Order: sequence, then structure tokens, then C-alpha cells
Amino acid sequence: MIQLTSAATLESAIRKARTVKPRVHVNCFGRYTVTNKQTGATYTVTCEKRDGKRFASCTCRAGELGRACYHVAAAVAAHIQLASERAASH
Ligand SMILES: [Zn+2]
Repeated sequence: MIQLTSAATLESAIRKARTVKPRVHVNCFGRYTVTNKQTGATYTVTCEKRDGKRFASCTCRAGELGRACYHVAAAVAAHIQLASERAASH
């Protein structure tokens, strides 16, 4: 579980996501499948809010160790976009 405190938490992961450009599939709001198109590796990222704090987790090795990986960075970008679309439609 990774706590998303600020953009700085994900800064290097975002940089890596921009290089790797993984595919993000939305399973449902808050649950994403991230695929590395080069290797075909697929991981599940979940985003949730608890007590006003944002958390994310990833099934990859780094994610299991609580490190912000690029899968989380990619999924969080999709999550934020989805959240703003939902907010706009209500
Ligand atoms: Zn990961």
C-alpha cells in the first residue's frame, strides 16, 4: 500500500510511466489493469480513499514493497481523469 501524499511521491514513477507508456485498462472506478506493452507483464492497481487520504496498491514486486511504481503512476493519472469526469457528470 502506497500513500499518495503529493505529486512528488510519484514524480520518478511518472517519469518512468512516460517512458514505458503502459496500457491502462479500467476494470471499474478505482481498479485498473496496467500492462507493459513491451514485456506483456500485467499488474492490478487499486486506488482508494480512506479518511481523506489517498492510497494506491500494485501487485508488482515494487508495489508490494510499498514503493511507488510506474504502474501506480499510470493508473493514478487515469483515476484522476475518471474522477473528474464523474464529478462533471453529477
Ligand atoms: Zn507496480
